[in-house]
Amino acid sequence: MNSKIVAGNWKMNCDRSEAARLAGEILDLLDAQDIPGVDVVLAPPYVHISEIAGLLEGRRGTFTGAQNCSMHQKGAYTGEISAQMLKSAGARYVILGHSERRRDFHENNGQLTQKLERAFEADLRPIFCCGESLDERDGGSHFDAVKTQLEPVAGLPAEFFSKLVIAYEPVWAIGTGRTATPDQAQEMHAFIRKHLSSDKDHAAGIPILYGGSCNDSNAAALFAQPDINGGLIGGASLKAGSFVQIARSFPS
Ligand code: PEP
Repeated sequence: MNSKIVAGNWKMNCDRSEAARLAGEILDLLDAQDIPGVDVVLAPPYVHISEIAGLLEGRRGTFTGAQNCSMHQKGAYTGEISAQMLKSAGARYVILGHSERRRDFHENNGQLTQKLERAFEADLRPIFCCGESLDERDGGSHFDAVKTQLEPVAGLPAEFFSKLVIAYEPVWAIGTGRTATPDQAQEMHAFIRKHLSSDKDHAAGIPILYGGSCNDSNAAALFAQPDINGGLIGGASLKAGSFVQIARSFPS
């Protein structure tokens, strides 16, 4: 498990053959030049997880992730997918609390607390997302907004902190082409680290990823910041060359 991570959130894109092709292109590029010390995570739609996990099997530093999981363990929840099912399909990571799920599916802190519990029970590594809206940033309440969103992780027992990943994704930067500046991102990442470290020593080493219009042109400046440990990448993760270039953007 590396503390530098670049994760691709494919969202609801790619049919089966497109997903296999994209993963294959990414693996070819990674084979051409290894990226030591960086975990690369591919998070396709649920239905492609086992196929992508099969392609990644036996490779060092590449993992499959899911984009969500149910807050329930099992049972009569039509259409839901459990964390345990994702683990058995080959997922090792799960993105939780993405702003699209908070906004479009009304996910709240109570539900996200349960999803985190399910993820840890299934031995999945959660990538827990947080990030303020434009109104919150303009109104100066961005730190408070992020602190509130982090309540489900701040309450976790200390032993889970070694598996936790945080993604800071300002909503105004997601899919907009407007990236947080390296200084803005660093300021929030340092705040998150300090906030989570206040009563738990383990929190100091948590990977905190930046997400929001991160691409192969701006990743290096972002990843050069001391508290930015990688990226959660949306649009640019659908282009193999850009995505792998982002994964190569850490300072040497
Ligand atoms: C995301 O949705 O997690 C994301 C970061 O998207 P984009 O990179 O397209 O802004």
